[in-house]
Amino acid sequence: MLTVLNPATEEPIVQLEQAGVEEADRAVARARAAFPAWRAVTPADRGRLLRRLASLVEEHGEELSRIESRNAGKPITGARGEIGMVADVFHFYAGAVDKHHGETIPVAGGVDLTFREPLGVVGLIVPWNFPLNISSWKLGPALACGNTVVLKPAELTPLSALRLAELALEAGIPEGVLNVIVGRGSVVGRRLVEHPDVAKIGFTGSTEVGRQVMEGAAATIKRVTLELGGKSANVIFGDADLERAAAAAPYAVFDNAGQDCCARSRILVQKSVYDRFLDLLVEATAGIKVGDPELDETEMGPLISAEHRETVGSFLDGASVAFRGEAPEGAGFWFPCTLVEAGNDDRVAREEVFGPVAAVIPFADEADAIRLANATPYGLSGSIWSRDGSRALRVSRAIEAGVVSVNSNSSVRVSTPFGGVKQSGFGRELGMHALAGYSDVKNVYIATEE
Ligand code: NAD
Repeated sequence: MLTVLNPATEEPIVQLEQAGVEEADRAVARARAAFPAWRAVTPADRGRLLRRLASLVEEHGEELSRIESRNAGKPITGARGEIGMVADVFHFYAGAVDKHHGETIPVAGGVDLTFREPLGVVGLIVPWNFPLNISSWKLGPALACGNTVVLKPAELTPLSALRLAELALEAGIPEGVLNVIVGRGSVVGRRLVEHPDVAKIGFTGSTEVGRQVMEGAAATIKRVTLELGGKSANVIFGDADLERAAAAAPYAVFDNAGQDCCARSRILVQKSVYDRFLDLLVEATAGIKVGDPELDETEMGPLISAEHRETVGSFLDGASVAFRGEAPEGAGFWFPCTLVEAGNDDRVAREEVFGPVAAVIPFADEADAIRLANATPYGLSGSIWSRDGSRALRVSRAIEAGVVSVNSNSSVRVSTPFGGVKQSGFGRELGMHALAGYSDVKNVYIATEE
């Protein structure tokens, strides 16, 4: 049995049966059986069903937000935003289905056409930090393209995905098209990766497990999309609006208690403004409201588990702590917002902490900033704060990351592509780009000469 906990209270929410290899195989068989009929549904009707699902997510928004908040320990206000995005993602792909079409290509002797064919059964494996949100980024394009799906949520946070599967049936999406299976990654996740009837794995999680997924997928030449870890830089130039940059920076690391692949956990600050910026940053960080996730005013909740809190804590060994905030005492996996002054080679600046710990690192000039920002095996996101537009664009191009923002720390929008480079993975989610990851291009040539 799997006991699902509330990380803010350490109390059990529910106990669930854990699936094993046999259940995984049965889920794949259900998805396989449902595939021919689902791909034959006209694109407009598939769009209609996805739109109904989006509306049901909206109608059940508060319920889903409460489920997510209790299960992941995230503040209710943030959970509402995430569930709102889930609905928007299904609306987007409902509207995208019939705009994802093939081409005619001029050739000699006949007509050449391309078609966007669904892949078949796709396995979706997601982490615990944004459970339903990240699931929707994969489900939207996968279902829109005519694939059927086996979704494996993280063991710690399966509840919102289970509820979504019920809503999908209520929306009229046929039985077998969206299957959710709760079980261990090393058992069920691995089986999906190895299963010969699974055509693709859409994976979000750690770089370490991503590597195993890629290795496992090689045996059956499965397609993979890998959304992995990050160690993103927030680059503050001396000519930036320092007040704005400092007010925004804490939320770019401490949102979701730092358990965010896009966390700008390396704050690179030009030496000429370092002391002033650090003062502003400490002041802004001290203002973050940490506490009961059920309260509207709470900005940061607990970490996901006791084990994870231990790992996050280990990053402070020998670190030069500039600021440590407050956190509730007693039950719950609490960890305070922490700022550390560091060098780019320190462990806290090299490895993904995945908790509310930011490393503040000085740099000399533009070339030094770019060098430090890129001195990491990761390449997911990043920010540049400067009033010089040419510099902002130059540095945006020079930073090795899939997603960069200027005078902002946002990375994710429904209609724009999201994903990493280097060891942060490959493939793009969201926007029209995600459709390419859930379809193959088929080329058909018809000879017309007599
Ligand atoms: P994880 O890699 O431990 O687990 C992710 C999922 O993979 C879970 O569902 C897990 O059960 C499953 N899994 C574990 N072992 C497996 C195996 N051998 N085969 C198949 N599946 C397996 O990651 P996590 O701890 O749940 O999440 C945190 C990580 O996710 C961080 O590194 C974070 O950066 C990353 N992440 C990346 C993005 C992104 O879009 N790039 C988004 C969110 C989180």
